Amino acid sequence: MKERAHEKHILYALLKNSLTDFGCPICKLLSRRKEEWIGSLFHELASDAHVRRRIREKGFCAHHLWDIIRYVEANPGIDGLTTSIILQDLLSSKIEQLERGEIPKHPHECVICEILEEGEEIYISSLAEWIGEPEILNLFRGERPMLCLPHLTALLRRMGGEIASEVLRIQLEKMRSIDYRLRSLIRKYDYMVEERIAVEEIEAKRIAAEILRGMDI
Ligand SMILES: [Zn+2]
Ligand SMILES: [Zn+2]
Repeated sequence: MKERAHEKHILYALLKNSLTDFGCPICKLLSRRKEEWIGSLFHELASDAHVRRRIREKGFCAHHLWDIIRYVEANPGIDGLTTSIILQDLLSSKIEQLERGEIPKHPHECVICEILEEGEEIYISSLAEWIGEPEILNLFRGERPMLCLPHLTALLRRMGGEIASEVLRIQLEKMRSIDYRLRSLIRKYDYMVEERIAVEEIEAKRIAAEILRGMDI
C-alpha cells in the first residue's frame, strides 16, 4: 500500500514537471520513457532474462530499431556489443522460424511500442484524474503546455462535466494562437508585405505539426 502511494507520488511529480515544459505533457513523458528504456538497455536490461526473451519474441519496429542504432552512434562510450548481441539474437530467431517454414505473423511487433502503450495508458488516466486539481489545472493554463490532438482526444474521452469543458476551452485558446501565428506567417510570404517574419511565426509550423500528430516518439 505504502509502495502504491509512493508510485502515485512519483507519477504526480512527473506529470507536474511535464506541464512546466513546452508541448504535449503526455508526449514528453513518453519520449522520456523511451529514452530511459533505451539507455538502460545498455546497462541492466540486456542481461535481464525476461527482457531478453521479450525482445527475442517481439523485436522492434523499424522506427524504434533505428532509434536504438542512432542512440549507439550518438553515445560512443556505451557498449556497442549489446546491439550486436540483440541483433544477432533476433536475426537467428527469424532464420530458425523461416527454416521451419513459418512466415512471421506480426513482423511489426515492437517491445518499445508496447512499453509506450503501457505508459500512455498510465499517464493519460493519471492526468484525467488529476487535471481537476487547482495546481495541475493552473500549470496547464500556462503558456508552455499544449496537448497534441491524439492525447487531447484520449483525455477528453475519459473526462466529463465542467473540467472537460474547461480543459477544452484552455486548449482551444492555445490552438487558436498558433493558428493566428501561422496565418500571419502565410500573409508575410506575400511579396507585397514587407513586415519581418517573427521567430514565433517560424516556430508555429513545428508546434502546429506537434499539435496535429504529437511528437515523433
Ligand atoms: Zn501528445
Ligand atoms: Zn516500435
